[in-house]
Amino acid sequence: MDFIWKVTLLSVFTVSGQGKVLTGSFWHITDLHWDPTYSLNGNSASVCNSSGNRPTPDAGKFGDYLCDSPWDLINSSMHAMRDILPDPDFIIWTGDDTPHVPNEDLGEEAVLRIIGNLTQIIKELFPSTKVYSALGNHDYHPKSQLPPEQNSIYEQIQKQWESWLDPASRDTFKKGGYYTEKLLNQTGLRVLVLNTNLYYDQNKITENINDPADQFRWADQVLSEAAKNMEKVYIVGHVPPGFFEKKRHKPWFRPQFNKHYLELIQKHHDIIIGQFFGHHHTDSFRLFYDKAGIPISAMFLTPGVTPWKTTLPGVDDGANNPGIRVFEYDEKTLLVKDMITYYLNLTHANIARARWEKEYRLTEAFGVPDASPASMHHVLEQIAGDNCYLQKYYDFNSVNYDRTACGADCRVDHVCAMREVDFDAYELCVVKEGASSAAPALLTVALAATLGMWASY
Ligand SMILES: [Zn+2]
Ligand SMILES: [Zn+2]
Repeated sequence: MDFIWKVTLLSVFTVSGQGKVLTGSFWHITDLHWDPTYSLNGNSASVCNSSGNRPTPDAGKFGDYLCDSPWDLINSSMHAMRDILPDPDFIIWTGDDTPHVPNEDLGEEAVLRIIGNLTQIIKELFPSTKVYSALGNHDYHPKSQLPPEQNSIYEQIQKQWESWLDPASRDTFKKGGYYTEKLLNQTGLRVLVLNTNLYYDQNKITENINDPADQFRWADQVLSEAAKNMEKVYIVGHVPPGFFEKKRHKPWFRPQFNKHYLELIQKHHDIIIGQFFGHHHTDSFRLFYDKAGIPISAMFLTPGVTPWKTTLPGVDDGANNPGIRVFEYDEKTLLVKDMITYYLNLTHANIARARWEKEYRLTEAFGVPDASPASMHHVLEQIAGDNCYLQKYYDFNSVNYDRTACGADCRVDHVCAMREVDFDAYELCVVKEGASSAAPALLTVALAATLGMWASY
């Protein structure tokens, strides 16, 4: 594997009075979407099934923007992780392992084999690293139909991940695809891995269930108990609440589940120090506010490894470069101190070699001290109010794939998705922000007309 990036992550570690290292780091990877059919040796116009017959004349060894990941890309991303940060405190892996193909092209066995192969390569390259692994909507057959009760797929994935799971986690995982553990077995720290695929609006099985797999009741109980024990908590999941920033009015959760999730965060925000999700394949974040408008929690959406251009109607050119991310955090308080995103320029990789580069470090790119809710709120205000920051964020959003300008509509889509997870509040934001971005233009027209300059337009 061809890799030249060398990092001095150790240089950011700080030491406390007792000589204990306070800043730890962990990987977050998501949406690997391995397509085993990817092959440059065939005769057809497309090199992979996941392109959905879209021709792929530019396909190369490390993939194509119209396809899910070939094994060479999976392998390259895993080795990049090991080269950049070989000994993370832990790894968060938020699912979606199989390719975007019709259900008929996969089946239960294929889904389990793909998850098994990805599990295997992570275990090979990080043999002694704890992995907190969440199910994605593509980690089931048929896709997105994750059931609210025990089934053979949950059971078999549980077996594959057994060495990563505490005994109690194995039980809840088999029943509902979720679990909780003390973070790295430490007193005072906790991680909740959720199966939010149960709330996905494509999931027909859970549509009419009030609390699928009892997950909300369970999470509320775990978080209440955690609060009593003065624990700090990370929440990990795949499908996020709120809206897709690349398509206006496009949420993922069913409305009642979105509400319930928000209530859960608002109730327990004191102890929820970070939320880590995937599914979008893009790089973005979500903010949660209390009733007084104070930012209380941030959710980080890490870009996918797959470069696959989404076929979701209404999304214009929704591909991305492959991305992977390191978080730096305070080992005592779990405060997210920074995040560093690394990426592969796929076009360049196919022409020359696979060179994983640092894309950006949050605190450097946005001039904030850390990634706390207050800092992320400041980042959002800069994006909303300053075109330079908006464009910078927009370039990062597709991991430097889409370098077009983010105009007025684009700004509203992204800003409102980041600011408002609640469905009604989001719609209000779209109206309000739409009006505010239109205002200067209208004002100019009115002013021009008043001054008799209309003819010059
Ligand atoms: Zn995905
Ligand atoms: Zn997904």
